[in-house]
Amino acid sequence: MKFTETLTDVIEPAQVNQIMQAIKEAEQIVITTHLSPDGDAIGSSLALYHFLKRNGKKVRIIVPNSFPYFLKWMEGAGEISVAEYNPEAARHILMQANLIFSLDYNIHKRIGLMAPMLESSPATKILIDHHLFPGNGFDIVASHPEISSTCELIFRLLFQAGKYEELTKTEAECIYCGMMTDTGGFTYNSSDPEIFEIISLLLRKEINKDTIYSQVFHNYSAERFRLLGYTLSQRMEIYPDLHAALIWLSKEDQAMFQFSKGDTEGFVNYPLSIKGIIFSTFIREDEGLIKLSFRSQLSFPCNEFAFDFFNGGGHLNASGGEFYGSLEMALKTYSEGLKKYEKLLKQSMNKD
Ligand code: 5GP
Ligand code: MN
Repeated sequence: MKFTETLTDVIEPAQVNQIMQAIKEAEQIVITTHLSPDGDAIGSSLALYHFLKRNGKKVRIIVPNSFPYFLKWMEGAGEISVAEYNPEAARHILMQANLIFSLDYNIHKRIGLMAPMLESSPATKILIDHHLFPGNGFDIVASHPEISSTCELIFRLLFQAGKYEELTKTEAECIYCGMMTDTGGFTYNSSDPEIFEIISLLLRKEINKDTIYSQVFHNYSAERFRLLGYTLSQRMEIYPDLHAALIWLSKEDQAMFQFSKGDTEGFVNYPLSIKGIIFSTFIREDEGLIKLSFRSQLSFPCNEFAFDFFNGGGHLNASGGEFYGSLEMALKTYSEGLKKYEKLLKQSMNKD
């Protein structure tokens, strides 16, 4: 196939060999991914999991906490261990591993209660990720912020290692899922032509991309939609001069609509559809903390806002953070942040 030859070697070929060699030598492999795992986290973990298992490896996936129902259709999702449910078992699995993969996160803090377990494990540690600023504590670092999903990196790793021919439909489905979710169904961060060359290669594995889309995006409860309607009509603030919009939800708001994990996924994107808005924030009261999601357009760096005010980070146009305190205090901190970023917000709107 002519076009397969055009994929760039994004991962250093020497590093591909190093990773494949580490896999060859390992007996027990553990795959880890970030808190509140999303489609890219679960998709990349499962794709690698199936590949390793098919190649005769003993492999497990451990995630810090549970993941939403619309990701559970992926084959193998039921075999994923959740550390929060049994921290001692998670510690044991990580301590026994020879090789640990860290997928879709850049620093240990992003795996919550698993961070000290990972740090004390004697295993070789391989990071494969697309967030800026990879942290310490990894033996092999394949960090590519220019790539829009970790799933794409897993594809590239296997492709570069000459494993495309043997890639299964199941693996292709998991990879496609994360490429799709991390780009909002290829609506942002997805203008690199090679993304579509990779999709073409995945389709050749007979995946049904329309079914995958439906399983993820057409699988919500009616309550989620009522909650979305409520959020946009009752809990949205627009700051037209600053090109910013805020939505927020208290615990009581969520309880009114039988909130279930994943129900608010994607809410933060809606205000960006409003003409003139380039910065959207979603503040949600969670168990013991306030969780924040940020999205931006053009050159406005929402990851810097997340870092400066909410101990967070992420990508230029999609980031998140946390706040320990009341919802009122989080809202106040946001307002102060907006004031500090006023100039940059106005500039970002006009410059691009
Ligand atoms: P989401 O808003 O979908 O939860 O997250 C968007 C992006 O921000 C993801 O790439 C995610 O990895 C990153 N992110 C979310 N929450 C946090 C956080 O608390 N800290 C950091 N550093 N990044 C986060
Ligand atoms: Mn990702």
